[in-house]
Amino acid sequence: MTFRLMCVAILIIAAHLLPTDAAVRVWGLRAFNLDGDPIGPPDPYVKVSCGSTFSGMTDFRQDNANPTWSDEFNFPKCKAKDILKLEVWDKDLIYDDQLGTCTLKVQSGTQLKLDCIVGRGSLSFSYLLK
Ligand code: CA
Repeated sequence: MTFRLMCVAILIIAAHLLPTDAAVRVWGLRAFNLDGDPIGPPDPYVKVSCGSTFSGMTDFRQDNANPTWSDEFNFPKCKAKDILKLEVWDKDLIYDDQLGTCTLKVQSGTQLKLDCIVGRGSLSFSYLLK
């Protein structure tokens, strides 16, 4: 194999490893009127998974019932009809409380500002399937 061909091969492999090449991307997480702690607003964060893959979680937002997160989550192996799951949690000192879970079946294209019910509040997010 020539050096040039090797460079091309490495570039192609690298391109496949980049997160921007994900099949499913989730972004624009935002929650409204979350209700968790007995006193005061919750300290919410969101865990995101698709199919059997867990992509990660947002930071928690202290005392915030209406948080916005800038995180993006990428699932290179997630495909149409897989289940996309967003779990909303309230961070506590010992045991975190699950405030609600949003699940949907992935469909192709871009889905903007989807809403799902979380307790007495809601979670909004966008995703796309390439
Ligand atoms: Ca809390």
